[in-house]
Amino acid sequence: MGHREDIIAACKALEADGLNRGASGNVSVRDGDHMLITPSAVGYDVIEPEMIARMSLADDSGAWEGPNKPSSEWRFHRDILRARPDFNAVVHTHAPYATILAIARKPIPAVHYMIAAFGGPDIRVCDYARYGTADLSAHILAAMDGRNGCLMANHGMVVGASDLTRALWLAGELEALAHQYVHTLAVGGPVLLSDAEIEETARGFASYGVQSKDSTE
Ligand code: 13P
Ligand code: ZN
Repeated sequence: MGHREDIIAACKALEADGLNRGASGNVSVRDGDHMLITPSAVGYDVIEPEMIARMSLADDSGAWEGPNKPSSEWRFHRDILRARPDFNAVVHTHAPYATILAIARKPIPAVHYMIAAFGGPDIRVCDYARYGTADLSAHILAAMDGRNGCLMANHGMVVGASDLTRALWLAGELEALAHQYVHTLAVGGPVLLSDAEIEETARGFASYGVQSKDSTE
């Protein structure tokens, strides 16, 4: 499958998994010194591969190729891919529980060991700025310092990863953490894991699924 088909499959998966609805949310993939990004205001039920827009990562003009104009959030997708050479895919959604916490402006603390997949013991909430703005992009980059994702105040969430499969997985994990945290708040609040416990988990993740004789996890 080419990148365009992969992006369409990701959009359909986000919709099927309840992580996004209608035309909200957007997906991008690095394509050499360009990015491929979902078109603006097209529902994931009707999106087609040829509608995916292509933009230079180096160019500041916002110029794009394609029949459809790119997502209104092209700026933060471009800026994240520019700033983070370790990322090749970015996913932004208005997933329900992540968005509830983003509206309450509550960062997610270490409620579950899976938070280690995000690069540290918390998932921050970036400051509010209107969608599509350079300010929003700057706020997201600050909140994602040392992290693979963040909540976006009064808006949603964004994750970045080495490939689109992992970015989709992270989007689902972030929503799961948000879901767990929201419900835990209703039963007296979570007992949090320590920074040391999260660091230990991150070290475990480095060998998780690796089939070597030295690996016991
Ligand atoms: P687009 O349809 O332009 O991608 O915008 C959706 C969105 O989520 C804006 O934040
Ligand atoms: Zn959005």
